[in-house]
Amino acid sequence: MNIVALAGGVGGAKLAHGLAQSLEPEELTIIVNTGDDFEHMGLYICPDLDTVCYTLAGLANPETGWGRAGETWNFMENLEKLGGASWFRLGDKDMATHLERTRRLKEGESLSQITEDFCAAWGIKHKVLPMSDLPVRTMVNTDEGELAFQEYFVHRRCEPRVKGFRFDGVYAAGPASGAKEALDLADAVIICPSNPWVSIDPILRVVKEINKPVVAISPIIGGTAVKGPAAKMYAEMGIEPSALAVASHYRNIASGFVLDNMDRELDAGIKNIIMKTLVTDTLMKTAEDRVRLAKDVLHFIGSL
Ligand code: GDP
Repeated sequence: MNIVALAGGVGGAKLAHGLAQSLEPEELTIIVNTGDDFEHMGLYICPDLDTVCYTLAGLANPETGWGRAGETWNFMENLEKLGGASWFRLGDKDMATHLERTRRLKEGESLSQITEDFCAAWGIKHKVLPMSDLPVRTMVNTDEGELAFQEYFVHRRCEPRVKGFRFDGVYAAGPASGAKEALDLADAVIICPSNPWVSIDPILRVVKEINKPVVAISPIIGGTAVKGPAAKMYAEMGIEPSALAVASHYRNIASGFVLDNMDRELDAGIKNIIMKTLVTDTLMKTAEDRVRLAKDVLHFIGSL
C-alpha cells in the first residue's frame, strides 16, 4: 500500500514512527509542516521536521517531545551567561542540525535536498519531505495582536487568546520537490493526529488538492489535547473542542475518520459528517501503541 502521511511535530511524529515500522520505505512518504519554521540567532530552525526525523531515527527525547535524547546544554548555559536569548532552548547535539542546515540553505540548496541528506545520515529509510521548499510562516492572530508562531507558542507559552491564523507566503509556496509525485502515487493520505489549525492546515493550503482517499486521526481525546494548545485554540475560537469538532474541520477533505474509544458516543454524530469511522485506542504512550495504531489505520484504509 502506498501512503502519504501529513504530520506536524509531536502527535504526527509518533504515528509516522508507527507507520514506518509497518510499511516498506518505498510505501511511505511523510510530508511535514514547515509553517512553524523560523530564524533565530541567524539559524534556520524547522521544529516539526526535526521532531519527525529525530523520532524516526530513534534520536528523539521521549520526555519533552522535542529535541534530542541524552542532550547536553553547554551552548545554552554559556549563551545565558552572556545575556543571549534563552527562551528557545537549543541543545548541543541539536545545534549541529541547525548550523549545518543553515549553512547549506545559504549556499542555495533546497530544504528538501538537505532533509534527504540528513535522513540518510541518520539512517532513516522512509522519505521525509518538508511541505514546501519556500518559506511559509504561520502567524497567530491574538487578543494582543498578530504574533509569529514561535513567539506565540514558545516565548508566550500559548497564553494570548487566539482569534485566527494566517499563513504568510502560502500563495507563492508550492509543494516541495517530490511531494506532488508522492501524492500522485499514493493509494491514500493519512492526516496524523497533529494540531489541525497550525500543523495540518498549512500543509493542506500548500498542497491545495488531494485526489486520494484521506483518513484523519483525531488529536483531541475526551475533549482535550494530549499535548499542546489544540483544544485551547478550538475553545478560544468559540468551538467546543472534541473529536466531532476535528471531524467537522476536515469535513471537505476526509473520507474516513479515526476517533478514540473514549469518544465512542460521538461516533454517530461524526458519521453524519464523515461517513466511515474507526473507533480505537489512539493514545500512543509506548512504541507498541504507535505500531498498533498505525496497523489499525492501515487496516481501516484497506476496508474503505
Ligand atoms: P506540534 O507541532 O509539536 O504541536 O505537534 P503536532 O501538531 O503533531 O502534535 C500536537 C497534537 O498531537 C496535539 O493536538 C495532541 O493532542 C496530539 N497528540 C499528541 N500525542 C497524541 C497521541 O498519542 N494520540 C493522539 N490521538 N493525539 C496525540
